[in-house]
Amino acid sequence: MKVLLAHSFYMALDAKQAAIKEPFPPLGTLIAAGQLRQEGFEVDVFDAMVAAGPQDFKTHLAQSKPEVVVFFEDNFNWLSKMCLAEMRQACFEMLAEVKARGLWSVVVGSDASDFPELFLKAGADYVIKGEGEWRLIELLKSRQTGPGVFTLSDGLVFGSPPEKPVHDLSRFALPAWDLVDLARYRAIWHQNGRPFTLNMMTTRGCPYRCNWCAKPIHGRRYDIRPANQVVAEMQNLKAQYAVEAIWFSDDIFGLNKKWLASFCAGIQSAFGSDPVPYKIQIRADLIQEETADWLARSGCREAWMGVESGSQKILDAMDKDLNLTQIENATRLLKKNGIRPCFFLQFGYPGEEAQDIHATWQMVKRLKPEAIGISVAYPLPNTPFFEKVKDLIENQDHWQISGDMQPIFKATYPRAFYPLLYRYIHLLFCQLKGKLPLRDRLRFWQLKRSLRTFQIEGIPF
Ligand code: SF4
Repeated sequence: MKVLLAHSFYMALDAKQAAIKEPFPPLGTLIAAGQLRQEGFEVDVFDAMVAAGPQDFKTHLAQSKPEVVVFFEDNFNWLSKMCLAEMRQACFEMLAEVKARGLWSVVVGSDASDFPELFLKAGADYVIKGEGEWRLIELLKSRQTGPGVFTLSDGLVFGSPPEKPVHDLSRFALPAWDLVDLARYRAIWHQNGRPFTLNMMTTRGCPYRCNWCAKPIHGRRYDIRPANQVVAEMQNLKAQYAVEAIWFSDDIFGLNKKWLASFCAGIQSAFGSDPVPYKIQIRADLIQEETADWLARSGCREAWMGVESGSQKILDAMDKDLNLTQIENATRLLKKNGIRPCFFLQFGYPGEEAQDIHATWQMVKRLKPEAIGISVAYPLPNTPFFEKVKDLIENQDHWQISGDMQPIFKATYPRAFYPLLYRYIHLLFCQLKGKLPLRDRLRFWQLKRSLRTFQIEGIPF
């Protein structure tokens, strides 16, 4: 059977990502492709990330002539986890095309796991909730529903909950990198003056309980690939595809100290003193003297931490299980070991007042991370945070693209305040680093003036 695997995250449809120009191939889709190939399916991939839009999918579909199309989203990329409306619409358009050609289709991804009915009514024959690789193989072979597979019956959604995930990650195939145009990715990274970076994962899931964080695919587990398998994959990416850097897209890298020590030893024996530089997401409370040293020696050059807020009150309200001293220590240790500390910040969480926003900026000023990424609190379905604010939701629409920064629920300040705050803090940070471009100086003062019109006491705009 010939299967066309596709996904629906189009960099071209997301103005923010199109401007950043740091695309990653769809890792989750490519692992599923590798898995299907191992089972004897003929597999082709349509890669939306570097396509112009759903019209490219139509052309690809006509040429590929598959028997079934599987929309398998990259569940390792936070952009797919955002479930953006623009990408959902793109998926619907592609589903309509599949239907028009009389083919059958399956959808696997965060958005479809949360809202199977929408995807089924848009033309999908099946939606697989949760981790999809193994269930997909069963479905393609038998075309019978099973745990986690949802379909429409007399217009109603029908299906049963997913089974437990597969914990032994060594059973998953390696990504089928040969099915995407890596030369194109390399060219984009190089044109942007950046090293050619590919994405890998070492774990699935996260055991922490931050109450706004949705985990529709991998849940609150933590499974790790054998360290030697990860090192071998890095060697292969370097030898075969001349990769120059790696982004480990795990929610939490290196939570298990024993694993991290053995990973570091494996890297040193495979690469000596010239490891492939990599960046990670990690919790601040996991950075200690020993872990920072292992990370540095194994090639970690950048660590993004979900710092969220400089106000302990807000961290506690988020169930972040993190304190400000841990953030400070982690930042210091990373810098000491030559790793760039970077902060994810979040504004607009319920109860956040002017003094909390001010505390967040003061923390940034004091600790001077290398970079910051800002988001605004967003109630994703099936999270405790969603339950908390569901009666305050004013706008039922999802965010269209990743640059949307207006709260969809009634936050402390007016909705229009937050996108301005987002841009202003970014420029303030550039100024702090002495890198505020000349062209942005006027914009900076305009933003400051606009923020003052909200007359919010306690933030020195
Ligand atoms: S630590 Fe990160 S991935 Fe884990 S629950 Fe918190 S925000 Fe989510």
